[in-house]
Amino acid sequence: MNSKMSDCIFCKIAAGEIPSKKAYEDDRVLAFYDLDPQAPVHILIIPKEHIASAAEITEDNSSVAAHIFEVAARLAKELGLDGGFRLVANTGADGGQTVQHLHVHLLGGRSMKWPPG
Ligand code: AMP
Ligand code: ZN
Repeated sequence: MNSKMSDCIFCKIAAGEIPSKKAYEDDRVLAFYDLDPQAPVHILIIPKEHIASAAEITEDNSSVAAHIFEVAARLAKELGLDGGFRLVANTGADGGQTVQHLHVHLLGGRSMKWPPG
């Protein structure tokens, strides 16, 4: 798998070729605010390497997935989401995934319903 896919919008955001409102960045992941927020806090956390979806996580690349969860917990603390929050990785067509680069939605600031639609 290429670390950068030239036609992938989130690879371009990770490379700084498309602007985003950053919430956190390090050498492995980027967190940025969703353009179409579904909650008072709505951040996307992505690996900088191109992984198409959660269905593509393997023993070889799962450490970045673990790191995404660490960053989510850190951001939730920083943003004061003390009442809780939701992490979502829409995966594939049935999962409602629209961008084919792994991303975890961090949603918070309001009470969430279950089950989702
Ligand atoms: P999903 O439906 O889980 O694949 O989520 C894709 C998310 O990416 C949606 O919530 C979109 O609003 C968001 N999105 C798409 N393009 C951008 C962008 N350029 N900057 C920020 N968020 C984006
Ligand atoms: Zn990509």
